Amino acid sequence: QSAPRSHVLEPNPQSAVKNVIAVMSGKGGVGKSAVTALLAVTLARQGYKVGILDADLTGPSIPKIFGLHERPELEEESIKPVKTRIYGIGVISINLLLEREDEPVIWRGPIIASAIQQFWTEVGWGELDYLLVDLPPGTGDAPLSVMQFLPVSGVVMVAAPQELAVLVVRKAVRMVRKLHIPIIGFVENMSYTVCPKCDEKLELFGSSQAESVADSTGLRLLARIPLDPRLSTLSDQGEVEKYETEVLAHVPAHLDEIMNR
Ligand code: ADP
Repeated sequence: QSAPRSHVLEPNPQSAVKNVIAVMSGKGGVGKSAVTALLAVTLARQGYKVGILDADLTGPSIPKIFGLHERPELEEESIKPVKTRIYGIGVISINLLLEREDEPVIWRGPIIASAIQQFWTEVGWGELDYLLVDLPPGTGDAPLSVMQFLPVSGVVMVAAPQELAVLVVRKAVRMVRKLHIPIIGFVENMSYTVCPKCDEKLELFGSSQAESVADSTGLRLLARIPLDPRLSTLSDQGEVEKYETEVLAHVPAHLDEIMNR
């Protein structure tokens, strides 16, 4: 049965968001947050106005990889997203709102759903071309809430090569399709690595199945992102905005094309 999308909520009066894009993965640790961050930075570098809603309430990592600790301010009864240092990407995350950043979030479904609703209705996102939503892994309450309550225009799937091999992403794909939300495509993360000595591309998890998965599922392969120690180091230091990469550079144009069709 397909879940209704009649619950989509009105945005905050201080928001004018053109497109909401959810970033999803079948399981944790595949680099979903890293890909969300890179996509946001890539869009910002190309002149788009971008925000990130961190819907990963139990494992929020967006503030950490951008090095954000400030609390959001209240302005005209709306919560103002915290801006990243280089590109001014607006971020809202439970980590920025909690009294203590290391406080674990142990909430049940209904509270998770209402927190996600508030990230949309009580946050003044301002004018944005793209609001990226970093979902928690899998197909639980939080992803479902985002897709029911927010006007999600499309989903980007993130998978690691090992997952593609066993098609863990299939379940996530089925959920999104049931909700009649378009899947923009998928990103294979940690797809390969480049030898620092000889520049050879090494496929650490065997030869990539990304192309054949794209063929068999009908999903578009948006990009293959290499495993790169510089990315994890910069992320650990809260400086992901300094990571230079061209791997996602073609994605904004593709998003524009499908969003404005
Ligand atoms: P998820 O959001 O799927 O749980 P994260 O984005 O938090 O995963 O990534 C998990 C870890 O892997 C982080 O330490 C991150 O810096 C690292 N990581 C993710 N993608 C890459 C990559 N392409 N190269 C190197 N490290 C990566």
